[in-house]
Amino acid sequence: MSDVGSAALSGNLAPFIRDRLFIGGEWVRPKSGRVIESIDPATEEVWAHIAEADARDVDDAVAAARAALSGPWSRLEPSRRGALIHRLADLVRQNAGELAAIESRDNGKPLRDTLGEMQRAADWLTFFAGAADKINGHQIPYSPHALAYTRREPVGVVGAILPWNSPILLCCWKLGPALAAGNTLVIKPAEQTPASILEIGRLAAEAGIPAGVVNVVPGYGKVAGAALAAHPGVNKISFTGHHSTAIKIMQAAAGNLKRCSFECGGKSPYIVFDDADLDRALSVAVHSAFRSTGQSCSLASRIFVQRRAYDAFARGLAERAARIRVGHPMDERTHIGPHTSAEQLAKTRDYIQLGLESGARLLTGGGRPSGLDKGYYVSPTVFRDVDTSSRLAREEVFGPVLAVMPFDDEEEVVRLANSTDYGLVGGLWTRDVSRAHRVAAQIEAGLVSVNTFRPVHYMLPYGGYKLSGIGRENGMEALDEFTETKAVVIDLSPNMPADPFAN
Ligand code: ADP
Repeated sequence: MSDVGSAALSGNLAPFIRDRLFIGGEWVRPKSGRVIESIDPATEEVWAHIAEADARDVDDAVAAARAALSGPWSRLEPSRRGALIHRLADLVRQNAGELAAIESRDNGKPLRDTLGEMQRAADWLTFFAGAADKINGHQIPYSPHALAYTRREPVGVVGAILPWNSPILLCCWKLGPALAAGNTLVIKPAEQTPASILEIGRLAAEAGIPAGVVNVVPGYGKVAGAALAAHPGVNKISFTGHHSTAIKIMQAAAGNLKRCSFECGGKSPYIVFDDADLDRALSVAVHSAFRSTGQSCSLASRIFVQRRAYDAFARGLAERAARIRVGHPMDERTHIGPHTSAEQLAKTRDYIQLGLESGARLLTGGGRPSGLDKGYYVSPTVFRDVDTSSRLAREEVFGPVLAVMPFDDEEEVVRLANSTDYGLVGGLWTRDVSRAHRVAAQIEAGLVSVNTFRPVHYMLPYGGYKLSGIGRENGMEALDEFTETKAVVIDLSPNMPADPFAN
C-alpha cells in the first residue's frame, strides 16, 4: 500500500500538503495564499491542505492555456500528441497505488474501487491517445466544379469542472479527448476532493506534455468555478455535477457563447420483467444500486419489478443489501465506504426520512451502521412500495437508498421509467427479444442495457437526455465535443463565374 494509504490505516494523520497550483508548467502559490482544508470522510478530520485558487489564479491559468494553444502544442503531429497521452496513461498506471490512496482518503471510496478506477482512467487515456491521429475531416462532393472538405480543429481552451465522486477517472474522460483533439485545459477539481488532480498535472509534465497545456486550479465552485465558466478566454466548458450547477454555468458561459457539455445526475430505472433470469437480475441489481455508496450518477436507484416476481425480488434485495460490508475505505474487506461529505450524508438522511413519511416500507438499513461512530456512514437502505409520484421515486438521492416498486405491464413501466426529469441510464431484464428492443427504444436515456446494467466503457458514448446533460462523453462521439468543424471550399472551374450584376 502507498504511504498515504498506510498512514490512514495506522491512524498517522500527518497532513498531506500541496500548497501550490499547477499553472503554465510551474508550481505557483495561490494569489490569496489560502488552502482548502480537505476532510477525510472516514474520520471527519482535516487530512489535507490544498492550494486554493481564486479568480486571479484562474486568469493566469487561462492565459497559460491560451499561450500553449498557439505554441509548440499546436505544431505537434497528431501521432506525437497521441504518444504523449500514451505516456501519461502509463504514468497513471505506474502511480495507481498512490493516486488511489489519495482519492480514497479524499472521498471515502474503498481503496479497491479507487485502484480499479486508476486502471480505468489510464485505459481511457490510452483509447484517446490512439484516436489522436484518427480525427479526420471528409471530402464533400457538393459540386463537380469545387473541392470541398472539412477540417476538425481544436475548440481552444477547455475549462474542465470536475465532480467529487470519481475525480481522476472523470478528469480523464475529459482530458483524453480534449488533448487528442489538440485543445489545452484549465482543470478545476471539486472543493470536497481537491487533492488528487494536482498529481495529474505533475504526471502530465513528467509525460512531456508541454507547459500550459494542462493547468490545475483547485478551488471553490462559486469562486474559481464561476470565474472559469465566465472567462472570455475559455472556449468550452466540460462539466460533471449537479444540473442546478450546470444551469448556472450555462448562464455564466453565455457571455462569449462557450460550447458547453454537461454530464449531470440520473435516476436510472432498472426494470425486471417476470420472464427474466431473476437470480442474475438480483445479483447485478445489488451492486448496481449500492456501489460507491450510491454516489454515482448512473446507479440503479429505482427498481421496477413485474408483479409476479415482486415480493421475492424485494426480499432478495433487502437480504443482499444487509450483507454489504460498510467500513473504512482502506480496509480491503470494505464493500462501501462513507459518504464523501457531511452535506451528502445529510441529504441521504433527508431522503430516508421522506421515504418513511411517505408510507414506503423500509426493508433494511435507514441508519448508521453499528460500530462506526465517526465518519459519514449510512447503511444500505431498501424501501419497497415507494409511491411512484414521491420525491424518493423521482429525485436523485446520491446515496445508498433504493426505491423498489411493482408494475403490471410494459406500457405502465415505460411510463414510470420516464416519469423523472433525468435520462442518463436505464436497464431492463427480459428473455423476450422483441420486448427488449421495444422497451430499449422507448426509454428516455443516453445508455440503455439489456440483461446487464450500465456498461460504462471508453468505447460507448455516454451522456444524458433531459436534465441529465448535454453532449456525450466517451466513444469517438466525445471528440465531436472537443472539435470545431471547418468547411473549406476551393473552386475548380476554368470558366469565369457568372456576374449577376452585369446587366
Ligand atoms: P454537488 O451538488 O454534487 O456537490 P456541484 O454541481 O455543486 O456538485 O459541483 C460539481 C463541480 O461544480 C465542483 O467542481 C464545484 O466546485 C463546481 N461548481 C459549483 N458551483 C459552481 C458554479 N457556480 N460555477 C462553476 N462551477 C461550480
